[in-house]
Amino acid sequence: MSKTAVIGYPRVGSQRELKFWTEDYFKGKISADVLQANAAELRSKQWLLQQQRGVDFIPSNDFSFYDGVLDTAFLLNAVPKVYRDLRLSDLDTYFALARGYQGPKGDVKALSLRKWFNTNYHYLVPVLDDETEIRLNGSVPFDQYSEAMALGVRTRPVLIGPFTFLTLAELKGKKRREDYTAAVVAVYRQIFERFTVLGTDWLQLDEPALVTDLSADEIALFISIYRELLAGKGGLKLLLQTYFGDIRDVYAQVTGLGFDGIGLDLVEGKQSKDLVLEKGFPQGTLLFAGVVNGKNIWRNDYGKTLTLLKELEQSIPQERIVIGTSSSLLLVPYTVAAETALPEEDKKHFAFAEEKLLELNDLKTLFEDPNYTENPLYKENAALIQSRSSHRDNTVGDKISALRNDDFIRLPVFAEREKIQKRALGLPLLPTTTIGSFPQTAAVKALRSKLRKNEITAEEYKTAVKQKIADCVALQEEIGLDVLVHGEFERNDMVEYFGENLNGFLFTQNGWVLSYGTRCVKPPIIRGDVSRGKPFTVEYIVHAQQQTEKPVKGMLTGPVTILNWSFPREDIPNRIIAFQIALALKEEVADLEANGIRIVQIDEAALKEKLPLRRADWRSDYLDWAIPAFRLVHSSVKPETQIHTHMCYSEFEDIVQDIDNMDADVISFEAARSHHAIVDALVRAKFKTEVGPGVYDIHSPRVPSEEEITAAIVAIKEEIAVEKLWVNPDCGLKTRGEPETIASLKNLVKAARGVRSTL
Ligand code: GLN
Ligand code: ZN
Repeated sequence: MSKTAVIGYPRVGSQRELKFWTEDYFKGKISADVLQANAAELRSKQWLLQQQRGVDFIPSNDFSFYDGVLDTAFLLNAVPKVYRDLRLSDLDTYFALARGYQGPKGDVKALSLRKWFNTNYHYLVPVLDDETEIRLNGSVPFDQYSEAMALGVRTRPVLIGPFTFLTLAELKGKKRREDYTAAVVAVYRQIFERFTVLGTDWLQLDEPALVTDLSADEIALFISIYRELLAGKGGLKLLLQTYFGDIRDVYAQVTGLGFDGIGLDLVEGKQSKDLVLEKGFPQGTLLFAGVVNGKNIWRNDYGKTLTLLKELEQSIPQERIVIGTSSSLLLVPYTVAAETALPEEDKKHFAFAEEKLLELNDLKTLFEDPNYTENPLYKENAALIQSRSSHRDNTVGDKISALRNDDFIRLPVFAEREKIQKRALGLPLLPTTTIGSFPQTAAVKALRSKLRKNEITAEEYKTAVKQKIADCVALQEEIGLDVLVHGEFERNDMVEYFGENLNGFLFTQNGWVLSYGTRCVKPPIIRGDVSRGKPFTVEYIVHAQQQTEKPVKGMLTGPVTILNWSFPREDIPNRIIAFQIALALKEEVADLEANGIRIVQIDEAALKEKLPLRRADWRSDYLDWAIPAFRLVHSSVKPETQIHTHMCYSEFEDIVQDIDNMDADVISFEAARSHHAIVDALVRAKFKTEVGPGVYDIHSPRVPSEEEITAAIVAIKEEIAVEKLWVNPDCGLKTRGEPETIASLKNLVKAARGVRSTL
């Protein structure tokens, strides 16, 4: 007998209910009690479903109103004083940490957002300062465990582990990481005791930080934490769960510590299987074998998975192998069943969260069946996998094979182009601009929904969008920005829109996955060769440019970002997919240029996202094709055409040189909360590309003052030559409201003009 396990389940609701409830709560439309009751209802549905689908190890405390790392910080009382001083309710203090607070009780920024390892999910960075007093705060995990018990569902509570928590936290005071360890460990021990009292049998501690490169100090920290925790766990069974890679740096230590269960990612962990087979696995410990992909949506290939499980069985008896997901299912949508518009032909190849539950069950049945290859479940799956089509387009293949080195090089070199562009564009010093999108108001979304429901014609939709664009250009003129944008009103999402206009993509209606907070994206599925038919951005951009003398940026999403924010096919390498997308975009760039557009921005918001977690893999597995893919898009433009790019998040200190090698003319990026580190890195690397480090944070509704923005510009200008500097917010404005956007941008323009006048 083997068992099945789910590491974590999606939580926003299959119709994104949680997003709408929290938004209603923020607007004062529903009370905290109603919000809590709704959330409990959502949790109960999901637990019962997992139970009904036969999952043996069902998670709890995988729910969150905003983010699991923030929940952990809150549980450990890592709540900086500025938030406590607001004297809000617990729930509102929590939301203040997540979103910032601006109101009668004060004005506080949100905690920083960071990418969760190599995913498009973002966590809030916990802050530890000298005033932090780590202690058990609140009872959420215990309450939710009891809530599930009351429904008759025995769950396995999930917590971010202390090692990952301490690794991700930002230290803001004089204390060092080790200074917090004892207190953190003490709280986890208290948590163990509380669960023991509740009769919990298993507890899962997520330690994804173990799949990264670890220093000797980090390994020592990990060991010291877990020696103590394991000594104090009493009757509780402890599962150490890892995901997003393998734990090669600590495998021996992990297997030697005496965990009751160890969770390994056998999908993304390149060495996971070999580690088990070559180094052995402790007797009496359960292996939670992550074999069902938690990150992609293709049906599991039972043949391959069974072969893998049988191999593992050479080292570990079947009853000690738990068949599980490779990561939390948070990263895939709810259910294929909600996709009524997709052809059956395609749909049958997909497994979202609910279907993965069925796969776990099938795999368990097959694993226990000595003649599994004769089992109809197996045969059906084998036939399905066989029938997967690659949707080949030979012209695309030919173009890829014809690529030569020159196709990746733009001439003349940057220094020459920069002069030509300065002359051609005639911009003032410290030019102001935005990242592209303007607020997607209810009115804009309503337009799209009417189009979807055929309540307006495509022509009417286009006319309305063009009106919005004209208004947006007029607004930017009034605000006084120097380089304008069209506002991206025709785009639901920066990747989805491109997928819809290129060949090779498929779209879901309800395939939402969380990006940050309760904000979701709907990644397209790349199921075939990618190419472009006709131009699709030109009409809107040209329309915007016709409204103004100032340059309007043509706005494209880059090849790496489109790839990283899609569910990719698995039958060809990512490198080839990226080149295919790049060639399609190259045609669009040429058309924009031919139609008089002088600046083209090619967003690579997600470039950093899939950077391998281990340094040794950075170049060979990723940068060696990702950077060329970007270069391919713009290598043929005229010298006077200025190429911009934008990256979300400034954590690219380690790959600054590679970013410079993208050979864009201008890059904007997040720096509002942390400009120092990145600016230093740029200076050290003698970064040639002009830069627009974001001067304020758009992920929160708060309006930055002119003084605040001035201070940011002045600080950056100290280090980077003013001729190279742009002034912009740190990301697109689509998630913001109109009033706060206008107020913020006015302050930005005033600040830039103020600094300009001192030059
Ligand atoms: N141009 C896009 C926008 O402004 C970029 C968004 C992003 O970086 N995530 O919305
Ligand atoms: Zn961005």
